[in-house]
Amino acid sequence: MKNSVLGRAFGEEAVSKDAKYVFQTYGRQPIVITRGQGALVWDADGREYIDCVAGIAVNNLGHCHPRVVAAIKEQVERLIHTSNLYYNDLQPVLAEKLAKLSGMDKVFFANSGTESIEAALKLARKETGNKGFIAAEHCFHGRTMGALSITHKEKYRKPFEPLVPGARFVPYGDAEAIRNTMDADTAAVILEPVQGEGGVNIPDKDYLKEVKKICDKAGVVLIFDEVQTGMGRTGKWFGKDHFGVQPDIMCVAKGIAGGFPMGVMMATDEMAKAFGKGDHASTFGGSPLACAAALGTIQAMEEEKLVERSAEMGEYMRKQLEKCCKQDFVDHVRGLGLMIGVQLKKDGNSLVAPAREKGVLINVASDTVIRMVPPFVITKEQVDRVAKVVGELTL
Ligand SMILES: *Cc1c(COP(=O)(O)O)cnc(C)c1O
Repeated sequence: MKNSVLGRAFGEEAVSKDAKYVFQTYGRQPIVITRGQGALVWDADGREYIDCVAGIAVNNLGHCHPRVVAAIKEQVERLIHTSNLYYNDLQPVLAEKLAKLSGMDKVFFANSGTESIEAALKLARKETGNKGFIAAEHCFHGRTMGALSITHKEKYRKPFEPLVPGARFVPYGDAEAIRNTMDADTAAVILEPVQGEGGVNIPDKDYLKEVKKICDKAGVVLIFDEVQTGMGRTGKWFGKDHFGVQPDIMCVAKGIAGGFPMGVMMATDEMAKAFGKGDHASTFGGSPLACAAALGTIQAMEEEKLVERSAEMGEYMRKQLEKCCKQDFVDHVRGLGLMIGVQLKKDGNSLVAPAREKGVLINVASDTVIRMVPPFVITKEQVDRVAKVVGELTL
C-alpha cells in the first residue's frame, strides 16, 4: 500500500471504527480485504483466498482486470461526472452495445440493481396504466421501497410496511398460477430467469416461454430481473438466452461494469415510448466513468471469450463439486454457467467460516444452498482446490 494518502484502517482498527461509525446492517466476515487479482483476494494480514463470492456475483472478470483498470484510468483523468443535462461521449456507445447484446431497444442508466428495478416498475405502470405486480415466491429484487414490495421474504418487508401496494406472489415455475392471479389491474409480471438469492433455482425450460405467452395475451408487461443472471453469469450473455424468451423490460446490474456501480433498465421501443421527458431521472446514472468501466468490461468479455468460459468452467466446477461433496448433508449440485448452488439438507450458514479459514470465500443463500459465483477467470486448479475444501467441510 505504498504512496497511499487515504489513511487506511486495518485489522482491529477497521473493525472497531466500523462498529462505532458505520450502520450495523451487515453480518460481516471478520477479515479486511485489501487487494484482489483474478479470482484471488488478500486480506490485511496477507492471507490469500479463492473468491467464490466475487462481490456477490459482481466481479465476473475477476478483480482488477487489466482492461477494466485501463478503461477507468483513461476516463478518470478526462471526465468523471457531468449529469444527464448534457450528452457524454460514452453513454450512447454503451447503450448501443447493450442493445445489440440483449436484443432490447433502449437503455435507461441507473447505479444499482434496485434502482434498475424501480425504473422498470414505474415504466410498467406508466405504459399500462395499471397498478398490480406479480412476482415469484423466493424472489429477490432489491431493498428500496418499490423493489422491496415485490421481494418475497417477509423478514425484509414487514418492518417497512406499508409498501407499494399491488404486489402478489405466486410459486416460481408455475405459469398457470400467474394466469390465475392476473386481473384487469395487473401492470407487470417480474421474474428472475434463474433465482439467485432464493438459492440458484432454475425453472423448467418452457416456464418463461409459457409466461411470455400469458403476458402477451393479457397485455401485461413481462419484466426479467437479470441483475444477477446477466452479463455472462449463466454461461450465456443473459439468462433469458437459455430459454429463448425476450421480455418487454429487462434489468441488469451486478457484473455490468466490472465492479463499478451501474444498473440499467432496458426495454422495447414500444415500452420506452411511455417514458417522456421528466418521467424518470438519475443524477449519476450513466456517468462517463461508469460507462468507461462497463465498456472496458464488455471489451474484455468479448476479447477473452469469457461468456463461453463461464459456461465451460461452470460445467467443470459442477462436476468437481459433485465428485468431492459426498458428505451426508449434501443433497445435490445444480447450476447454469458459473451460477452454482450446492443444495444442503440443513442450514449451512456455519460452513462459511471454516471454508474461509481454509482459504475459500463462499456464501450461503436461503440458508441451505452454498452459492458459488466465482469470477469467470477462475482456473481449473483453483476450482479443484475449492471443491476439495468444500468437500471436506463438516456440519
Ligand atoms: C442483487 C440483486 C438485486 C439488487 O441489486 P442491488 O445492486 O443490491 O440494489 C436485484 N435483483 C437481483 C436478482 C439481485 O440479485
